[in-house]
Amino acid sequence: MTVELAGAILVKVGVGYTSAPEEEHEPVEDKIDDSELNKRARCLLEKLKINKLYGKTIGVFDNNDNYKLIIKDGYCGIGKDGCANGGDIENGNVIIKIQSFGNYSLDLAATMLHEGIHAEIYKYVYEFNEGIDPNQRRNLLNYYYHYGARNGLDLATTTVQHQFMADNYVKPIAQAMRELDGSRYPLEHYMGFGWDGLRAYGYNGYYDNGVFKPLDKGRDSEYYKNQAAILATTTFAKDCL
Ligand SMILES: [Zn+2]
Repeated sequence: MTVELAGAILVKVGVGYTSAPEEEHEPVEDKIDDSELNKRARCLLEKLKINKLYGKTIGVFDNNDNYKLIIKDGYCGIGKDGCANGGDIENGNVIIKIQSFGNYSLDLAATMLHEGIHAEIYKYVYEFNEGIDPNQRRNLLNYYYHYGARNGLDLATTTVQHQFMADNYVKPIAQAMRELDGSRYPLEHYMGFGWDGLRAYGYNGYYDNGVFKPLDKGRDSEYYKNQAAILATTTFAKDCL
């Protein structure tokens, strides 16, 4: 059967999904086209690839080989660090533009992961519409439905993707940044990187393995301070010039 979801998304329920045996897929790191990214950023991205951080942080991008993640220099809008465009998802392309390269350090790494999560969500929702198992991401789909998101560049899509990220990816991004920084500080010190770009969303807390952890807003300035201290002293990507 089919149901109409959010006006724009035609959803197939209960068809087209079989529990296929586990297949080996090309890791997401091998699906990244960074040919139009500047040299210094490409060097930094290489470190994310070596540590398999896209795969570890985002997890599910590599369940299908027909996708390409294009990461390049580009303009997104006033005050933006980067943006992801799923408009060509039917042809298997998600384009990530990086506008602000910050210190070419952990801040840029966090932006690259943040945009990568947008890309993965575009892909997931597109595949869901094509009939894959929705149960894995029921909350995400509920958000899409609730806000009438079209999985395009509409504001509702941006909102629901950020809400979903606030719920699920704050800690994984912080963990990735800690790994890239050689685990110099406890995880708590890296949480500000996880919250970057998400502060307007789900700001009351986040989910840690399904358990909601309330966030003390009084700690935000502490997050910023820790983040600034880490950025000032990290050696991550210092060899990228
Ligand atoms: Zn975003």
